[in-house]
Amino acid sequence: MQGQLAVAYGALIHQMWSGKHSVVVPRELKSLIGKFEPRFNGYNQQDSQELLAFLLDGLHEDLNLITNKPYIEEKDADGRPDSVVADEAWEAYQQRNDSIIVDNMHGQLKSTVVCPECSKVSIKFDPFCFLSVPLPSTERSTRSRENKVQISECFDLFTREEELGEHDLWYCPQCKEHRQASKKLDLWKLPDTLIVHLKRFQYTRWFREKLDFPVEFPVRGFDLTDRVLEKSGQQYVYDLIAISDHSGGLGGGHYTAIGLNKGKWYNFNDSYASDLGDLPDVKSSRQAYMLFYQRRGTNGYNSPRKCNGNGPATNGTPPSNGATGEAASTNGAMDVGTSADM
Ligand SMILES: [Zn+2]
Repeated sequence: MQGQLAVAYGALIHQMWSGKHSVVVPRELKSLIGKFEPRFNGYNQQDSQELLAFLLDGLHEDLNLITNKPYIEEKDADGRPDSVVADEAWEAYQQRNDSIIVDNMHGQLKSTVVCPECSKVSIKFDPFCFLSVPLPSTERSTRSRENKVQISECFDLFTREEELGEHDLWYCPQCKEHRQASKKLDLWKLPDTLIVHLKRFQYTRWFREKLDFPVEFPVRGFDLTDRVLEKSGQQYVYDLIAISDHSGGLGGGHYTAIGLNKGKWYNFNDSYASDLGDLPDVKSSRQAYMLFYQRRGTNGYNSPRKCNGNGPATNGTPPSNGATGEAASTNGAMDVGTSADM
């Protein structure tokens, strides 16, 4: 996308935070996204998680300091300690991906697959940007619409061992056969800005539905330390900073957002923004679709990036003149981050 998405996004953020407008229409960004990804053209209802995934991936690639991605062969864990294999996988990932998005928003999942025939264990560490957690739905006939789900139940389900489906077989390198293996995911390390995607939309071959029962989640002090396998003595405690809400059903729903600014919560609904006052420490919501958490003690962007100063940079252009949005040059990796004063 040759930096176009980052420039348009930077300009929008600059415009939004200029204090000059009560309403900003993101026309340019919207049409640019549609140009690169035609399914986002027009005015059909879209999935906010899919849109955000596209946007974050596009921003990452626009801001990626690595221009020539080296080919890196994936190595087998081969019984080596998890921490060694995880670090190796992360370093390999960073040799191909180096951006403010990776620094702040990407974490690492551990996946363990076991062959039911020969018991071969395959362990991999994969980066992620969204933690897409399932909602308990198998017992939906007994679960009343009023029955609250705790977000911890969603995390339990996410890390539960499961048998792969018949159409989702795993190729066992030892048996040299496709097997219906068991698979388990674990959180290895979490990013400073954590996006939890509640999988409310269920699509199967036979039906589509939206699970709209309330989910209860912490607004302050979401402690995930015990769920993170990387034991570095660090605490993983998060505070909520925003919510993407979806109300209504599958076809004709409506998206709104809740966001925190300078300690106050606001609701954003098309061209209206309203003050929500304070939120309780724990919130229950039927609409919450994506939850945005910031790790306590971090501020939304990590220490200055290489390109913001003495930078090396693989693409070598010096930083542009000042941090104004208009100056978002093709190299303008920092303009997005610094003007997003959230
Ligand atoms: Zn096997």
